[in-house]
Amino acid sequence: MPPTIISPGTLRELHRLHKQLNDLRDRLARGPRQVQAHQGNVARTEQELTKTRDETKAAKIATDQKQLQLKICETKIAELKEKLRTCGTNREYQALLEQIAADDMAKSVLEDEILEALGKIEELVAATQKCELNVSKAKEELAKTEQQVNQQAAMFQTDLERLQAELLRIEQNLPPDFREIYVRTIRSKGSDAMAHVDGDFCSGCCQAIPPNRISQLKLSQAVLCSSCGRLLYLPEDRLRPGQSSS
Ligand SMILES: [Zn+2]
Repeated sequence: MPPTIISPGTLRELHRLHKQLNDLRDRLARGPRQVQAHQGNVARTEQELTKTRDETKAAKIATDQKQLQLKICETKIAELKEKLRTCGTNREYQALLEQIAADDMAKSVLEDEILEALGKIEELVAATQKCELNVSKAKEELAKTEQQVNQQAAMFQTDLERLQAELLRIEQNLPPDFREIYVRTIRSKGSDAMAHVDGDFCSGCCQAIPPNRISQLKLSQAVLCSSCGRLLYLPEDRLRPGQSSS
């Protein structure tokens, strides 16, 4: 069977197109993942905001209740003091004094608790504002990323179609015997189906290429790396003078 002839320039061009197409597909796939990450960020900041708002609400309700208790306590003390003025016996007077002292103590505890709770509410209000800011920042970032990704996607799509058309044009003109090898190799290796020769090594798997194979490559014969199975081609500067690079 005669050797399959293919120009190194065609192989180089095919390799370039496959690598570029692969890169474009990667970039196209990266866009939605970036958007998704920002969506996750928005959801997370919104959850934090809801949590902080709920905590603030609960703290306010608890403080209102304590303030109500304080009012009741103050009313009770005022009533006891009123009774103190009109009480008849010494024993009743003493009992009222003790009651007032106990209620004063309870009042003082409530006042301390309310003060502490008001401080906590202040902190929660500040935390809520920070969370609100985080949400709006995350939403801004998401919108910016979505816009960027959409713009890039349109650009990538145009490039992709152009490169695919270019690839198809070259593929349609491949010699039939080479096409068979090419299709098989692309099917199993994708954009990694080709490798240039680097020194005496396959640039795909870094294994040495026997001299007779290098000679075959110099004659523009189709050669597969015996180690990794990639289609090999010589770099432009190693072609014989006059040998077509395309
Ligand atoms: Zn190899």
